[in-house]
Amino acid sequence: MQFNKQLEKIKTYEPGLPIEEVVREFGIDPSDIIKLASNENPFGCSPKASEAVAQSAHLMYRYPDDTMGELKGKLAQKFGVGTQNLIIGSGSDQIIEFLIHAKAETKILINEITFAMYAIYAATKGVEVIRTRGMEHDLEQFYELYKSENPDVIFLCTPNNPTGDALRRDEVYRFLEKIDSDTMVVLDGAYQEYTAFKDGDYAIDAKDITKRFPNVIYLGTFSKAYGLGGMRVGYGVASEEIIGALYKLRPPFNVTTLSLVAASAALEDEKFVTDAIEKNFEYMKEYETFAKEHDGIEYVESYTNFITYLFEKSDSSEIAQKLLKQGIIVRDLKGYNLNAIRTTIGTREQNQRFLNALENLLGS
Ligand SMILES: *Cc1c(COP(=O)(O)O)cnc(C)c1O
Repeated sequence: MQFNKQLEKIKTYEPGLPIEEVVREFGIDPSDIIKLASNENPFGCSPKASEAVAQSAHLMYRYPDDTMGELKGKLAQKFGVGTQNLIIGSGSDQIIEFLIHAKAETKILINEITFAMYAIYAATKGVEVIRTRGMEHDLEQFYELYKSENPDVIFLCTPNNPTGDALRRDEVYRFLEKIDSDTMVVLDGAYQEYTAFKDGDYAIDAKDITKRFPNVIYLGTFSKAYGLGGMRVGYGVASEEIIGALYKLRPPFNVTTLSLVAASAALEDEKFVTDAIEKNFEYMKEYETFAKEHDGIEYVESYTNFITYLFEKSDSSEIAQKLLKQGIIVRDLKGYNLNAIRTTIGTREQNQRFLNALENLLGS
């Protein structure tokens, strides 16, 4: 069958291996498998969220409240914006899809190494993807390419996935001031809760953004710090003009009843999130120390819940494969042209198991 020509150029997105797949393939007991590949919260989600879902389970016969009034109200309060400045999606992935369809016609501009979905959605529209050179965002390169290529949409992923580095807020604002009002800029803040905790100078303020830059959209998600990856809830904060355009593309009932309930309840338990983030950065130090003590491992300073190890002597795919056979799932970054692995900071036991296994692999 002949499909839409655009599809020929698209490689199917490969998410982190699910535990179920590792059980099937390697015959490892599910309780012996640890998944540090998808940047999920290793402490799960707030018990308030799971209790709220259990209590609302009988509502699943009904279509969701499509105004999403309760969750929007809480997000509006959290960010200090109006509900008309918000759109909620089935993960922030879905908002990325909407905004590519709403604005990208010829070109988008992204970092050389960054979240894969920007380029995938662009490809579905036959939109050209312009990339900077280098691992970390270099705003001077972004500006030069913006001038010479005139992209419709610019994506800044801060902190960046899969490297973990972030941009300073004042640098981002200085960049935004130089971009014309007809170019959309997307600030993907999937890990901003971690960043804000680590260093306020790197935190992006969605309210500032909406007030000062009508051409900019901020994206957030409940999948990472809030521990609700399985519920698929993300959001965009922007001017009414942008939100209005995205709403034209939104399918009705795009977020399920139970997902809305979970996200609303999760916002009532900020302590759960803060505790998880605190432990995240405490445990991350062990990963940093490990890298410093081992020749041939470099790491990028991370503002997220994962850390990326760059290997000078070993092959990242081999390491990832050998870890997998021991039931440890991490993300090999060969597909991004990096000889590196990205590991989610897990619980204390998970981190110990990963670091011990890696130690043994490096020694052999
Ligand atoms: C995880 C992630 C997202 C999207 O997550 P959803 O689960 O779709 O909300 C978006 N951007 C980046 C950089 C991410 O890492």
